[in-house]
Amino acid sequence: MKKFQAARGTVDVLPPDARRRLRLVEIAGDVLGRAGYEPMETPVFEDTELFARGVGPSTDIVQKEMFTFEDKAGRSLTLRPEATAGISRAYIEHGMHKLPQPVKVWTAGPFFRHEAPQAGRFRQFTQIDAEALGSDDPTLDAELILLLAEIFEKAGTGPSHLRLSSLGTPETRADYVDELRTYLRAREGELSEEVRGRLEHNPLRAFDADHPGTQAVMAAAPRLVDRLTTEDADHFAEVRALLDAAGLAYEIDATLVRGLDYYTRTVFEFVSERLGAQAALGGGGRYDGLVEELGGPPTPGVGWAAGLERMLLAAGDEDLERAPTVFISYADPGRARAGFVLARELRQAGYRVESEQAGRSLKGQFKQADRVGAFVTVILGDSIEVKDMDTGTQRVADTPAEVLEMVREAAER
Ligand code: AMP
Repeated sequence: MKKFQAARGTVDVLPPDARRRLRLVEIAGDVLGRAGYEPMETPVFEDTELFARGVGPSTDIVQKEMFTFEDKAGRSLTLRPEATAGISRAYIEHGMHKLPQPVKVWTAGPFFRHEAPQAGRFRQFTQIDAEALGSDDPTLDAELILLLAEIFEKAGTGPSHLRLSSLGTPETRADYVDELRTYLRAREGELSEEVRGRLEHNPLRAFDADHPGTQAVMAAAPRLVDRLTTEDADHFAEVRALLDAAGLAYEIDATLVRGLDYYTRTVFEFVSERLGAQAALGGGGRYDGLVEELGGPPTPGVGWAAGLERMLLAAGDEDLERAPTVFISYADPGRARAGFVLARELRQAGYRVESEQAGRSLKGQFKQADRVGAFVTVILGDSIEVKDMDTGTQRVADTPAEVLEMVREAAER
């Protein structure tokens, strides 16, 4: 028989990991909700062209990493590699520009990129994503960055540093790329072969090179942050001033070129100090041209995405608290129906209740009660006894109402 395994780059999420993940999403929803961000969902697959146009045709994502397939009518569809394009499409499709602006939303769910799997990098992964559309106010950039930092803190992901930069407008960037290309051409002999091969299409990539000669050339290269228009430079200065006022440390990193075409002005990334090769916990930026590029009215936007799996890797296995549990055990297995009904009543009263459901001996049942962390064990036999697991005292209850009363007393202790 063939042995089935989860597809390459995908993972099964088993308990208690699944519970940790839900908890993280809850933390994010709580932090974002207090700043007015509302949950929203878009489909897991979309028209392929949405991503080709939205993310950018020359990006790694579109060139190499999309899971694309045809439906039965021959339409090309793609599993979403990121959230912003879909949310922007929905914003346009539902006329959300007519709502009071900015429209603040967040989402969490699966995303797909055909990458080489390694620690912290999967083909199906989970992102938490937050976006604010319809205003270019720099307080939104700063607010979103601070909210992400707060989520990391509450999630216990440990120390990370914030890289921050501004990309200006597409025009500034195009001029800058020309300037950089000319600078690099004049020093071609000192560059790695790979960088030379990419000079024409993507000279920005030279900033990521490991090659010592290239790095030396890049150290003295012109920087995009020094070429911003006055308006863009002012916007960036305000974002920085707001982060300073809030006391969040960051490092201006002129080499921060995120792998998506739609960014304008602010870009940022949080890098974990606990993780190795795949250390980016989350990042994002402003995309003032995207909605228009997708056929909508001119609409500024800013947002971020954070990887749930990476956040959990960084947070480690810190144990989640379980709700206090009542365990129902049987000295006489013939009392199963009475125990079944009692479990239901206790659950309706708000307790977490587990009962013996695998035919263990009474000794085995007590072990199981310890494993589930019971604070009370109810023992059904000729009588009903309620054992307080902390004090060890055991009392007889004459009615289910008395059981409930004793459980309540133990819970309050
Ligand atoms: P990006 O949209 O590439 O900026 O990704 C945002 C965040 O999603 C990253 O910082 C990672 O935490 C996470 N992420 C991106 N790609 C992957 C992947 N292939 N596997 C796991 N997490 C990912």
